[in-house]
Amino acid sequence: MNDYLKRTWAEVNLDNLDHNITQIKEKAGLNTKIMAVVKADGYGHGDRIVASELVVGGIDFLAVSSLAEALSLRNAGISCDILILGFTPADKASELAELKITQTIFSQEYAVELSRCARAAECEVDVHIKLDTGMGRIGFNCTGKDKCIDQIVSVFSFDGINVRAVFSHLSSADTLDTDSIEFTKQQIKLFDKTVEILRSRKVSPFLTHMQNSAGIAFSNELNYDYARAGIVLYGIPPSTEPPTFSIKPVMSLKSVVSMVKEVPAGTSVSYGRTFVTSKPMVIATIPIGYADGYPRLLSNKGYMLVRGQRAPIIGNICMDQLMLDVSHIDGVRQDDIVTVVGNDGDECISFWELATMIGTIGYELVCLIGKRVPRVYYKGGERIAVVDYIQGML
Ligand SMILES: *Cc1c(COP(=O)(O)O)cnc(C)c1O
Repeated sequence: MNDYLKRTWAEVNLDNLDHNITQIKEKAGLNTKIMAVVKADGYGHGDRIVASELVVGGIDFLAVSSLAEALSLRNAGISCDILILGFTPADKASELAELKITQTIFSQEYAVELSRCARAAECEVDVHIKLDTGMGRIGFNCTGKDKCIDQIVSVFSFDGINVRAVFSHLSSADTLDTDSIEFTKQQIKLFDKTVEILRSRKVSPFLTHMQNSAGIAFSNELNYDYARAGIVLYGIPPSTEPPTFSIKPVMSLKSVVSMVKEVPAGTSVSYGRTFVTSKPMVIATIPIGYADGYPRLLSNKGYMLVRGQRAPIIGNICMDQLMLDVSHIDGVRQDDIVTVVGNDGDECISFWELATMIGTIGYELVCLIGKRVPRVYYKGGERIAVVDYIQGML
């Protein structure tokens, strides 16, 4: 079980996940339940153990991006409601029904197809109807006029599918300039209006949900049945704006020093010789590279923490290894633990800090962490499980 210590691993702190759930619930308000988004392998944290912990923490609805992700959870024995946020081929209707997985309906054509497949298989699929209020991705377009309402009303009467909820998605709640705030308010207004009209048309009762992580900040004014919390569950803010409630990072990424060497001035480091020492230096080699999901764009830019101090990456990042300048850090030795993302002493490196250096977002970096990196789970200070995607559960 300790083999992972020899290379690169991710520590997943389930106590911090519990803390985040509590905080998000409080922020979302008494009448709004949390739908926990565990797509993309729980944003890289490992979907099964994270989902189990969420269910224990009182979450009764999970959201994923695809049927395969929903099956992963069902195979792990997770029995709560699961919503697929994206497309599923309509001919999977019987599988959806059998496993009690809820499917998003995002167009009239798709509703017709899914209903036809469900009737053919003599089953009933629970669905949530997606409204496009300005995201411009999937959903019934509500920015226009009544045609969308008539279409949605008709979907409520289709055989083989049962509409349980109507939902929408915010595109710009993570940015706080006046325009974005205005746009978010506009989306909320459109959603509320559409919901009101649907209710006035006497369709069967349905639930509502709209907010993502960033939208939860708007919760004081909102009162939907669910809020879909993704990135904040994992303790990562949705943008570089300071979070409006307390969250703690769930994952830290660790590696080790595999070799230390002293080199003279004029030594070139790594492929392409993009770094040449200008003075004698101490260089540490670390067994993590872009195949572990550590972006090559961070070559000659990023930092890692060694003995509580920042060590800059020098030279190009390789597939499996990279080099750090540790000249200014005393006593660096083979087997020293290196913090790639997380805290060491007073220093901290976040996914957002690294993302910002290379023009992307924290979401992308955490999702990119490779399957070669074992996930090591901690609860109550104890290591409770290791998931190694290559060797299986250890
Ligand atoms: C991914 C996703 C979410 C979660 O978004 P976060 O910003 O991570 O909270 C919510 N709703 C939908 C439809 C999504 O695709």
